[in-house]
Amino acid sequence: MNINEILNKLGIEPDNSGTSTGSKWLASKGAVISSSSPVNGQVIASLQSTDAAGYEKVMEQASQAFLHWRKVPAPKRGEMVRQFGDALREHKDALGALVSFEMGKSLQEGMGEVQEMIDICDFAVGLSRQLYGLTMHSERPGHRMYEQWHPLGVVGIISAFNFPVAVWAWNTALAWVCGNVCVWKPSSKTPLCAIACQHIVAKVLKANDLPEGISNLVTGNACGTLINEDKRIPLISFTGSTRVGKVVSATVAGRFGRSILELGGNNAIVISASADLEMSVIGAVFGAVGTAGQRCTSTRRLIIHESVYDDFTAKLAKAYGQIKIGDPLDENNHMGPLIDQGAVEDYLNAIEQVKQQGGRFLVEGGVVNGPGFESGCYVKPCIAEVKNHYAIVQEETFAPVLYVMKYKDIAEAIAMQNDVPQGLSSAIMTLNLREAEQFLSAAGSDCGIANVNIGTSGAEIGGAFGGEKETGGGRESGSDAWKGYMRRQTNTINYSNTLPLAQGIKFDL
Ligand code: NAD
Repeated sequence: MNINEILNKLGIEPDNSGTSTGSKWLASKGAVISSSSPVNGQVIASLQSTDAAGYEKVMEQASQAFLHWRKVPAPKRGEMVRQFGDALREHKDALGALVSFEMGKSLQEGMGEVQEMIDICDFAVGLSRQLYGLTMHSERPGHRMYEQWHPLGVVGIISAFNFPVAVWAWNTALAWVCGNVCVWKPSSKTPLCAIACQHIVAKVLKANDLPEGISNLVTGNACGTLINEDKRIPLISFTGSTRVGKVVSATVAGRFGRSILELGGNNAIVISASADLEMSVIGAVFGAVGTAGQRCTSTRRLIIHESVYDDFTAKLAKAYGQIKIGDPLDENNHMGPLIDQGAVEDYLNAIEQVKQQGGRFLVEGGVVNGPGFESGCYVKPCIAEVKNHYAIVQEETFAPVLYVMKYKDIAEAIAMQNDVPQGLSSAIMTLNLREAEQFLSAAGSDCGIANVNIGTSGAEIGGAFGGEKETGGGRESGSDAWKGYMRRQTNTINYSNTLPLAQGIKFDL
C-alpha cells in the first residue's frame, strides 16, 4: 500500500480541515500544519488547524452533546464502543500503516498500536456493565446509603506524537462508556493519524443516529492552552513531556479541574547476578531500540551486577551490531527513524553531554547518511557507560541512548533505580525469588510499573498504566482507572418516618 492508497482507505482528503465535531469538518483559520514523514522526508498533507472561533464552536457542540450522551444507558454507550472496535478491526491495516509512515515506528508496532485500540474497546464494552459503586450500612435505622458514579462532562485529551492513536483510544473509550464526550488535541507532528481516527468513529456515531459533539477534534498548539484554561472541561488527560505537563497541571489545578498526567519516564532494568542473560539481552535491546527509543517506557538505564557486567555488556554490544536500521515499513529492519530533525539534535546533544560529563561509549552513536536515509532522521542506537548521578542520565532523552552502570548488592541496585526524578516503568531480571520480591516490595521500585523477567517497555491494557514522581501520578487504561473519568456521589435515603441525625445528634423543635 502506498501513502495515497492508505489515505484513500481512511477517507482523508489532501486538504482536510483539522477541526471536527464528528461527521462535520469545520472551516477554521488556525495556522497551517503540515505533516511530513520521517521515513523519507515527504510532506504528506497539510491542514488548517483550529482557531479560537473554531474551538468555541466545537466546545458548544460538545457541551450540547453531553446533555444527550449522559442519559444514554451505559451498556448502550458500550454498544457504540463495541462497533467502534469493529470499525478499527476493518481499518487496522491502513491505520497501522499510516501510524508507521507518519510517526516512523515499525509497521509491526503501528499494527500493535491499533490492536491496543481494539483491546481497550473490548475492555470498555465489558466495563460499561460494571461501573460499580459500593453500598454501605447506614448507622441510622430505616436508611440506605450507597454511592454511584456519574459522568464528568467534556473530557479534554491532549496526546503525544509517539503513540498517535492508542493514547487517544485508551482515554476516549473509557471516557465514552463513562458518559463523557471528548475533545482531542493530538500532537501537531501526527495530525493525519488523528484525522483518520475521527473519520472511523464518525461513521459509527452516524450509523447510531448519535449527535455531533461526542467525538471532537481540534488541532494546533494554541488549542492546548485553550483547553487547559477552559472551565467547561472538568478533566484533562494529558500525555506528553514533563516540561509541558507541569504547565498543564498548574493551569488546570488553578481552576480546580482534574488532570490525568502521563509524563516522561527514565526506566531502568536491573540485571542481577542470577539473571538469565540471554533473555535479558533481548529484553534490554528491544526496550532500548524499539520505536527508536521513543516510548515513554523505553529502557534508558541498565543497572548491572558487577559479576556479570563485562559478560553482559559484551553480549549487548554484539546484539547492537546486528540491528538493522532503515525504512520501518520494511519488516526486515529493526529500527526506524526519530520523529524529526529536532529530535536528532536532542540525541546528538545528549551524546555530547554524556562525553562532557565523563561517560564512555561502548557502542558509538551518530546520524546515518546515504541512500534510503534522506530524511536525516535515522540515527544509530548507542550504549554509554555512565554514573547514575550525571545530569544527562537524570533526564529523559527521547532517543536510543542506553546507559549502563554497575552495582554490588540489591539494595544499591534498588536505590539507583529509584534515584531519578521520574517513576514510570522498571524491571528486574533475576531467577532469585528473594531479590524479585524485594524489588516489588514497599521498599523496592518506586515506579508505577515494576516487572520481573520482562523489560520496561510496553504494557497490557488490562492494568492501570502510569507512573509516579515527575511522571505525573496519572493512571489510565485498565484496572479501575475508569474512576478517574467519573464523579463519585454518595447517596443516603431515609425510608423511615423519623429524621434521626448522624452521630446521635438531637435537634428537637
Ligand atoms: P510534548 O510535551 O512536546 O507534547 C505533548 C502534547 O502537548 C502535544 O499534543 C503538544 O501539542 C501539546 N502541548 C504543547 N504545549 C502545550 C501547552 N502549553 N498546553 C497544552 N498542551 C500543549 O511531548 P511529545 O514530544 O509529543 O511526546 C514525548 C513525551 O511524551 C515524552 O516525554 C514521553 O515520555 C511522553 N509520553 C508519556 C507517556 C506516558 O504514558 N507516561 C506516553 C507517551 C509519551
